[in-house]
Amino acid sequence: MDSIAQLCSAFGGTYAGQSMTDLFSLYTDIEQKSNAFCSEYAIACGPGCGTCCEHFMPDITASEARLVAAYLLFIKKDASLIESVRQNMGNQQGPCPLYRFDSPFHCSVYAARPLICRLFGACANQDKNGAAVFRRCKYNAEKTMPEHIAFTADVPVMQDYSYALRSLDDQEGEVGFLPEKVSSMLDQLQFLASMLEFDDSNPDDTPNPLAS
Ligand code: SF4
Ligand code: SF4
Repeated sequence: MDSIAQLCSAFGGTYAGQSMTDLFSLYTDIEQKSNAFCSEYAIACGPGCGTCCEHFMPDITASEARLVAAYLLFIKKDASLIESVRQNMGNQQGPCPLYRFDSPFHCSVYAARPLICRLFGACANQDKNGAAVFRRCKYNAEKTMPEHIAFTADVPVMQDYSYALRSLDDQEGEVGFLPEKVSSMLDQLQFLASMLEFDDSNPDDTPNPLAS
């Protein structure tokens, strides 16, 4: 398996498959809107930057964890990465265990990365008065994005997508740190895959790809 579409199809007819399909549809919509927003307002990260992932542990929902776990098991098939996620249980500060210091692509699960990772530094946020504003990421020393924008136009806002994300979730949108959430999904998914008779996770003899 090498795409999320194939993953969704492999789990077709199950709750997990529907959850992954719905989530990936939301991610696709977000990506289109966020790309258009960044292009319109000249927002870009510094070349090769991934500093946010070094100082951060994502809070994610069960649906997001399911997709990351499925990606690790059936697409990435990287036993050491899976072990690293498990070993990071209790780490709430980062770096994220899926971050690669040795690759310019940085995120090991880029295609399945959670919502916060898609939108951090790439969308507006609601300020305390409910207005949509953009503020430059504090790690962006190169100033490749504007310092501050207050919007009157309709723009993608982090909080709106967080609500949309939580409304998809089977655990009422309860979030937790990535290592705990993903670890809790790994065994469930392997069991389900064995019931569906396609368990090809086989991580032990698969080389580690260079990038997502
Ligand atoms: S959001 Fe900030 S820290 Fe993260 S990649 Fe972009 S510029 Fe770097
Ligand atoms: S999942 Fe990927 S993008 Fe998100 S914090 Fe971890 S390494 Fe960074």
